[in-house]
Amino acid sequence: PLPVLAIVGRPNVGKSTLVNRILGRREAVVQDVPGVTRDRVYYEANWSGRRFIVVDTGGWEVDVDGLDKRVAEQAEIAVELADAVVLVVDTTVGLTDTDEAFVRVLRRGKKPVVLVANKADNPQLEAEASTLWSLGLGEPHPVSAMHGRGSGDLLDAIFAAL
Ligand code: GDP
Ligand code: MG
Repeated sequence: PLPVLAIVGRPNVGKSTLVNRILGRREAVVQDVPGVTRDRVYYEANWSGRRFIVVDTGGWEVDVDGLDKRVAEQAEIAVELADAVVLVVDTTVGLTDTDEAFVRVLRRGKKPVVLVANKADNPQLEAEASTLWSLGLGEPHPVSAMHGRGSGDLLDAIFAAL
């Protein structure tokens, strides 16, 4: 079976945009408003000849319960099914309590985690990413999923983790 990479993070941090960047095509639904994504969440990716499955966990953002419960569920399912997990944080917003809730769940799981500081669209924002070392998840990878900045280095880190 192909290795499975799960993309987790708060609504609106750019998970689906990152999935599309990894796929090299626009299949995951990108939305300006956080909410329920009722699209397919599994995609087959092929990056320089390496095939793997990408899971956009935004599809599980069903807004029925409290946010914390959703976070825990999204992260726990991701840890269970994935070989490696990408945690996406929004560099323009900085760390939130919800981001830290993800970190707690991911730390309990034993899967490798690749930390992405998304929306690092320019060198100033890229520099902000270094504050994420404080999460204890290793090197933060500044990326602009929208523009492609940093995505090559990120994929190298992903392949090292998968
Ligand atoms: P998701 O809810 O985590 O899946 O986030 P989406 O991928 O739907 O993106 C949410 C919003 O953030 C959309 O308006 C995207 O265009 C925007 N976005 C995603 N990535 C970037 C980025 O790298 N830079 C900027 N400036 N905006 C981004
Ligand atoms: Mg999404």
